[in-house]
Amino acid sequence: MAEAYIGLGANLDQPRQQLCVAIERLRQQPAVLALRCSSFYRSAPWGDADQPPFVNAVAVVETTLTPLALLEVCQQIEQALGRVRDPERPWGPRRVDLDLLLYDKAVMATERLTLPHPWMTRRAFVLQPLLELWPGARLPDGTVLADALAALPERCTPLPDGAA
Ligand code: ATP
Ligand code: CA
Ligand code: CA
Repeated sequence: MAEAYIGLGANLDQPRQQLCVAIERLRQQPAVLALRCSSFYRSAPWGDADQPPFVNAVAVVETTLTPLALLEVCQQIEQALGRVRDPERPWGPRRVDLDLLLYDKAVMATERLTLPHPWMTRRAFVLQPLLELWPGARLPDGTVLADALAALPERCTPLPDGAA
């Protein structure tokens, strides 16, 4: 059994609802035996400023899936929820995005999957919800994620219950 952290984000078509559906789909996977989710946060767009704000969360799952199989499940959920990629805007608006952040202490870099997720230490919208689930979080190389967050200039804001 492995423990994996998944970062979720959305900024189109009722983003909060998209995240709820994506989390429910993860929970329904037979090979996902437990799931805990952080609260939801609102964040300014990252890497491509001209788009609506994002709603972000992190989920931690206990799973028997391999890293690649878990990535495939995440991508199937994106497809099922109607994510459309714009090749000209890699960090552009999206209905839902699921990134595999950490998978136990796995370290790998292939075309399809890099672990830990290469940008996670630069993104408050990943670190804040992740630290909520795992306050002492460290990367496999020992990097303390609370220190990574402290070094970043921006913060995302907790989303009040019931917001869209
Ligand atoms: P970013 O990866 O910077 O957050 P993005 O989420 O917008 O950007 P996508 O278009 O969703 O990028 O994914 C591009 C490719 O990244 C995917 O096809 C996937 O194979 C690859 N990838 C590599 N490592 C990971 C990972 N840890 N989690 C999710 N996708 C990954
Ligand atoms: Ca992403
Ligand atoms: Ca992604």
